[in-house]
Amino acid sequence: MSRLPVILSKRVLAPSSSENLLDMAPLQKRMRKEQEPHKPQAATTIVGYKRPAAAAARAPPYRPIRGAGAATVAAGPSRGFVKPVAASTAPKAGSSKQPAGAKPGVTGATRRKPWDLKGKVNDMEGKIRNYQTKYRSVNEENEALKDYVAQNQTKVSELEQEVEGQKRKIGEYEAQLQMLSGVQNQLEETRREKNVLQKELSNLEQKYKVMETLRDSQETELQTLKMKLSVQESTMTRLQANLRDREEEISSLKETVAEQRDELHAGEMERRRLHNTIQELKGNIRVFCRVRPLEDGGLSKHIQLAASDNKSIMLAKTEESHTGKTAEMQKNYHFSFDRVFGPLASQQEIFDEISLLVQSALDGYNVCCFAYGQTGSGKTYTMEGEEVDDMRGVIPRAVQQIFRAGEKLSSQGWEFTFTASFVEIYNETLRDLLYSGKASKRPEHEIRKTASNDVTVTNLTYQKVSTEDEVLGLIALAKENRSTAQTALNDRSSRSHSVFQLQIEGVNAGRDIKCKSTLCLVDLAGSERMVKSQSQGERFKEMTSINSSLSNLGIVITSLANKESHVPYRNSKLTYLLQNCLGGNSKTLMFVNISPELNSFGETLNSLRFASKVNDCVIGTASSNKK
Ligand code: ADP
Ligand code: MG
Repeated sequence: MSRLPVILSKRVLAPSSSENLLDMAPLQKRMRKEQEPHKPQAATTIVGYKRPAAAAARAPPYRPIRGAGAATVAAGPSRGFVKPVAASTAPKAGSSKQPAGAKPGVTGATRRKPWDLKGKVNDMEGKIRNYQTKYRSVNEENEALKDYVAQNQTKVSELEQEVEGQKRKIGEYEAQLQMLSGVQNQLEETRREKNVLQKELSNLEQKYKVMETLRDSQETELQTLKMKLSVQESTMTRLQANLRDREEEISSLKETVAEQRDELHAGEMERRRLHNTIQELKGNIRVFCRVRPLEDGGLSKHIQLAASDNKSIMLAKTEESHTGKTAEMQKNYHFSFDRVFGPLASQQEIFDEISLLVQSALDGYNVCCFAYGQTGSGKTYTMEGEEVDDMRGVIPRAVQQIFRAGEKLSSQGWEFTFTASFVEIYNETLRDLLYSGKASKRPEHEIRKTASNDVTVTNLTYQKVSTEDEVLGLIALAKENRSTAQTALNDRSSRSHSVFQLQIEGVNAGRDIKCKSTLCLVDLAGSERMVKSQSQGERFKEMTSINSSLSNLGIVITSLANKESHVPYRNSKLTYLLQNCLGGNSKTLMFVNISPELNSFGETLNSLRFASKVNDCVIGTASSNKK
């Protein structure tokens, strides 16, 4: 449309006949056809060819050229402008739309008379001129159009280049766009990260606040602690000063303690000496008599204990008179011992008397304690007693006293070891009462003397003990061993001696003193005599060995008392085993147990006679086994 002015300006000169107009139509069609392919481009080819809107309005693209003749009316009806022009011009130049052979009457203009040949020739000439003119103008127009086309082609190629350039730019833009979308994604990602980080930040901020609060409280605490510390430091300084004072005090006290220890030790030695003096004054061999109560608990008439002291006992026997003058005659047997215990005497009372000797054992003197008497007189009750606390006998009580005293002496630097053994002598054979192995493998025993003159028994159990319970366990084991040996017909315990020995060794390393002693507690076999004719076989053998060992015990003690050069220790296993515990270096206590029943009168008398013989002995002054 905008390219038309070039053409139209040249049309001013073009012929105005209707034929011209008709011929023009195909040309214009061609032009349109040429232009049409560019039409879409025209929309984009604004560059360099834009006609200002005002100019377009001022110079309408198509001007009807009236002055140029009637034929020119229809010339160049270009698209878009035909209608308004046609509407206004059709009535006037309707002929221009008619073909050349149209009816002359219709146009009504200059129709020649058939005769007017000249006129017709003129017309024809005119037409020719018109055509010539038209031809020229068409040629011109053609040239112009060629130029125009050439221009357009140049423009087209320019535009194509431009399009290429634009395409490249678009490509670049697209690449940039892609890059930007990548950047946008990154941005999104970064935004998300930022959100996360912001949340974290706010969390951390909260935590920080909490920590700050905590720190504040801890600072307060720290301040408090610092204050406390300073208080405690001053307390400590004070205490240290105190401590120094105390240390000085302690060292002076230590000196005092050492002095007092020496004094104590000297005192202890003095006590031992005095204790021993007392024991010697009492006699190194002592005899205590103990009367068992009757089974119903009462007292028997034939035994009388002196009310004035607790040292004498009288046996009274009523006999028929030989002269017959008096129906009856009472015969009294008087005995006196170191102590006589009546049937009501408790186990504790008995032990109180022995405990002094037990102390001597701990002081380093050998101590031997026998229970002598007929079967059933209370020997075992006296030595072992029963398990109930009040009824416990001499052995558990002595052991208890020794352990407790040993513990006390440990504060003075004494260290004690105790070794227990329990042996039975039956028919002059030794049997280990602490044996716990198989009965079939029970070993045999022999009494030996060591190089240091100690007496020892081969294969015997020597058990180290340190508590009372351990000793009670050993007593129980000994009881069990004895009961397995006896049968219903043979109460073996009454026909055997049982010897409990506790070896005591004390060391005072600080003062380089040692002491060694043995405490022997012996439950002798029943002292009753049998009529020889009544005893046979095994019983006779038993009786003989019991009699000989008991009488030998009496002989040994008498020999020792008389300071005879030969003491027949070897005559019985009992005296041989006890040789170190008897004699000059020992303290001996004999219990004579008597049964209160009248039918035991004879045995009671025998026992009291034996005991008083022993009691009459004076054994040489004992000396402690100190080394
Ligand atoms: P032995 O050992 O001399 O044969 P026991 O010691 O076995 O005699 O005593 C015989 C019985 O007499 C036992 O039942 C014992 O409990 C009891 N008995 C012994 N002496 C006393 C006493 N002093 N008080 C109470 N009962 C005693
Ligand atoms: Mg007994």
